[in-house]
Amino acid sequence: MLYPPVCIFGGGERRILSGQFFIQLLNPGIGLLFATAFFLLWLNRRERYVAYAAAAYISSAIAFLIQDVGPVLPMEVQRIPSNLGFLITGALFAAAIVKRYGLPVPWRAMAVAGALSMTLFLWFLLVQPSISARILSISIGTGAIAVMVVVALWPIEKRYIIDRVLFWVAALSALNLIVRPIVLLALGGGFDNYVGFQQSLYWTTVQFSQAMVSIVAAISLMVAVGIDLIRELRAEANADDLSGLLNRRGFEARATSALRRCAEADRPVALLIADLDHFKQVNDRHGHAVGDAIIACFGAHVLDLSAPDMVAGRIGGEEFAVLLPGASIESARQLAEVIRIGLPTACSARVPPSLVPTTSIGLAAGVPSEGLSQLMRRADEALYDAKRAGRNRVRAFNPVPVKLAASAG
Ligand code: GH3
Ligand code: MG
Ligand code: MG
Repeated sequence: MLYPPVCIFGGGERRILSGQFFIQLLNPGIGLLFATAFFLLWLNRRERYVAYAAAAYISSAIAFLIQDVGPVLPMEVQRIPSNLGFLITGALFAAAIVKRYGLPVPWRAMAVAGALSMTLFLWFLLVQPSISARILSISIGTGAIAVMVVVALWPIEKRYIIDRVLFWVAALSALNLIVRPIVLLALGGGFDNYVGFQQSLYWTTVQFSQAMVSIVAAISLMVAVGIDLIRELRAEANADDLSGLLNRRGFEARATSALRRCAEADRPVALLIADLDHFKQVNDRHGHAVGDAIIACFGAHVLDLSAPDMVAGRIGGEEFAVLLPGASIESARQLAEVIRIGLPTACSARVPPSLVPTTSIGLAAGVPSEGLSQLMRRADEALYDAKRAGRNRVRAFNPVPVKLAASAG
């Protein structure tokens, strides 16, 4: 102990104020601080996982408070709510991480692990008292819950650094909860009673490592909330509400990077530009709402095709662009024909039977040395070729002509 202990009086009980006392306040303090932060975040972003995180920190604060600085109950009875609190904290935290990925929260499995762990805890409290066995039953039970998070996140593609960070937070928590007590109890020889427990190497390591894990987990989750928000705003800024595709800005941004990746990997790429035929006439004859419905159907129809890595956007009023990484001009032509031929059926539920919407499509194959604007210009030329030839057809930019017979309709 660094400083001589100072005696304080409270609740008629004499307590020792020492460095240990402040360490005891660490986890309740961290818990309350982060619970408040997550609650404030939740007020602005009503996502369930943010609420779970706030609840986890409240539960952690309460559990540590009961365990450390609230000896209002007899020692043995005090352990029951505090350890139940640790299990609930683990479950809520697991729920927060798993829910962020939209995965089903394994409530039932967590309840089973919690109940087993609590049963063993009670057994070693009431029937066959052993502090070491109680430590192991709660710590390993909470560790098992952390393992469930690791298992849930394992198959997920971790595209961003934050995804890897959250995975490792869960993995390290599991390790901290399962391995630490086993090693420390083996080293320290366990406990016969609570005398010296609060000051023991074991409990100090619990408090220190738990505080570290708590801080790292909270910061990671907060960064995740921020990243999710930025991603959502960016997606909104790049989306076209009517068609459900990207807007011009979003298309250009995504297509530019996809094009660059294709050039780097020496992968073929093709672009198609579609323009709805006689759309002014469609609006004039059937009304703007029907025109809008066709734009929406076109978007849904393209999304239905879900070609791998496809980047699709509405780049003008009734004009669309689809970049097809990995596609040869021939496979792009086949896809364009599927779009063209399938359009009337895709729209049939939402337009009058007398109206058969059609589209003209221009294609161009990517050349590694050229950028998106040049590729779009060539596809546009092919599109005007298709318009000039009578509309409702697919044309590829020369020198790769598209078979006329298959496309005219
Ligand atoms: P073309 O076959 O040569 O492409 O003839 P077009 O009539 O489709 O071409 P034009 O460029 O003359 O007209 C495009 C029309 O598309 C004009 C405009 O009213 C309509 N349009 C553009 N954006 C929207 C939209 O969001 N909703 C609706 N309903 N119509 C739109
Ligand atoms: Mg048009
Ligand atoms: Mg147009």
